[in-house]
Amino acid sequence: MRPRQHPSYYIDGLRAGDRLVLSRAITLVESRLATDQALAQAVLEGVLPHVPPTSVRVGITGVPGVGKSTFIEAFGKHLTGLGKQLAVLTIDPSSQRSGGSILGDKTRMETLSMDPLAYIRPSPAGDSLGGVAHRTRETMLLCEAAGFDLILIETVGVGQSETLVHGMVDFFLLLMLAGAGDELQGMKRGIMELADALAITKADGDNAAAADRARLEYQHALHLFPPTGTGWQPPVLTCSALTGMGISALWELIEKHQRLMSQPNHDGTSVRTRHRQQQALDWFKTLLRQRIEQQFFTQNGLTDKLQAIEKQVINGDLLPSIAITKLFL
Ligand code: GDP
Repeated sequence: MRPRQHPSYYIDGLRAGDRLVLSRAITLVESRLATDQALAQAVLEGVLPHVPPTSVRVGITGVPGVGKSTFIEAFGKHLTGLGKQLAVLTIDPSSQRSGGSILGDKTRMETLSMDPLAYIRPSPAGDSLGGVAHRTRETMLLCEAAGFDLILIETVGVGQSETLVHGMVDFFLLLMLAGAGDELQGMKRGIMELADALAITKADGDNAAAADRARLEYQHALHLFPPTGTGWQPPVLTCSALTGMGISALWELIEKHQRLMSQPNHDGTSVRTRHRQQQALDWFKTLLRQRIEQQFFTQNGLTDKLQAIEKQVINGDLLPSIAITKLFL
């Protein structure tokens, strides 16, 4: 067996923090080949005991143009300046359909990509969003096994991707533009409810006053939401990736959130632990549903039976509820 076909090649390399091995392990996890998938599972099982539970996972979202990549460059440089080992992963729902990508090409985050403490990896195109998110979770584990203690997951504020990212992070940051209009704010309501903090971007020059006004408005809007039940009230900040204003404050805020969420309550577990446990359970249930669906639809002879029953339903000869019972006979 060649070394790269053996799990220990990846497990040892990851534990040694070898980036080439990390990149190869991620490619393995992303592969659809059955042999690769089996090897990927062995690698994940092998590294899981060595993944420190102390890493911080931060999701960052916002509409295209809000300044995500510029922000992540500035924020990332600040974090590596503090000695953090930072991995940036991206989930881009646009890249599946068109082959093009809202999150853009390799020129994004140019400075950060040269930083020896940073590792940047976009998610692959050409798959279902659920599939991409599934592999992003595993990619995150591989990064953590390789010693990255801070994971930023970036996604575009469209479609379902925020909910998916929210389901895999400890802290969810929503970037907003000042003066982006009411309809946009309406659209963002559901996402605002998921956010642990809002940051108004580009708060510099002529835009600074508008950003401050937006901060107050959003702060007011957030107060109208029901309490989160964790004791955390999501704050609104302003920041500028150009001047650096607010960048260190945002990290301090995330640290404060982590400290608060890590405090053990009366039964000895913390909100953070319970949150991660719930995320793991949700992920398992999602995979279970996918597997059941896949097994169901690949049964022999199902297509003909299904088509016949659907025809009867369309013609009104069969009630949908009875059709379901017949299908499972
Ligand atoms: P993304 O699509 O959300 O990743 O946004 P980008 O990071 O590509 O930024 C969109 C545009 O906003 C670019 O032209 C940036 O130069 C500009 N931009 C980003 N951050 C700032 C900022 O802090 N201040 C100002 N004035 N412009 C910014």
